[in-house]
Amino acid sequence: MSKILVIAKPDLVIRRGPGAKMLREFFAFMKSRVVASNKVKIGEELAKEHYVHLKDKPFFRWIISYITSYDAFVFVVESEVQVEKTREILGNTFVEKANENSLRGKYGLTAGMNGLHVSESQEMADREIRLWEEHGVLHEGVLNFNAEEYITKYADGMDNTQEIHRILRDVKGKESVDSTATMALHDKIKEEANDISRDVLERFYGIFLETLKER
Ligand code: GDP
Repeated sequence: MSKILVIAKPDLVIRRGPGAKMLREFFAFMKSRVVASNKVKIGEELAKEHYVHLKDKPFFRWIISYITSYDAFVFVVESEVQVEKTREILGNTFVEKANENSLRGKYGLTAGMNGLHVSESQEMADREIRLWEEHGVLHEGVLNFNAEEYITKYADGMDNTQEIHRILRDVKGKESVDSTATMALHDKIKEEANDISRDVLERFYGIFLETLKER
C-alpha cells in the first residue's frame, strides 16, 4: 500500500461534468481508500512550495495563478496501484501530448491545464503529503470533502471536451486565436460550468487564454 497526494485542480472543479467523470475514472482505477480530503482555495505560499521544483520555469507565474484561481479538491489516497501505473493512466503533463485514452487526454483542457495532479513518485508523494499536512489543509483520518457525492451530482453534466479540443486543433499554429474561436471556447466552458459564478468563470477564462499562446 502506498499513499499519494491527488489534487483536482481549479479547471477540473470549474468544468463540472468532465471533472466529475475524470474523478470517477481515477478512483475506479485506483480502487483506493481516501484517508484525508478537503476542498480548499489554495494559498499562494502553499502553491509556491508545492511547485518549488518548477520555480525557474517560464510558466511558474502562470501555474501559481492557475492553481490559486479557485477551489481545488485535495486528497491523500491509499492504494495498491504503483505510482508509475497511476501516472500512466493520468497521461502526459501537456494535454496535447497526452494519449487520447488517458485521463488528461480525455478530460484535460489544453497545455498545462490538465485537471488532475498526482504525485509523480513515492518520494514526491511523501514530501507533498507532509507539506499539505503542515499547512493544515489535510489531516490523516479527516474527510472534509466527499468525492462520491460530488461525482453523483455532476458526472452527467455537460462535457464539451471533444468539441473544445477540436476548436483548439483548428486554431493551432495561428499567431492569435480569432474572436469567433475565442467566443466558441468561452461558451463551451461556460456550459460546463453552469453553476459557477460569472466572476470566477471570467477570471479562469483569462488564465485559460494566456496558456493558449504557449501551444
Ligand atoms: P505533472 O507531474 O505531470 O503535473 O508535471 P510537472 O510537475 O512537471 O508540472 C506541474 C504542473 O505545472 C503541470 O501539471 C501543469 O499544470 C504545469 N505545467 C507543466 N509544464 C507546463 C508547461 O510547459 N506550460 C504550462 N503552462 N504549464 C505547465
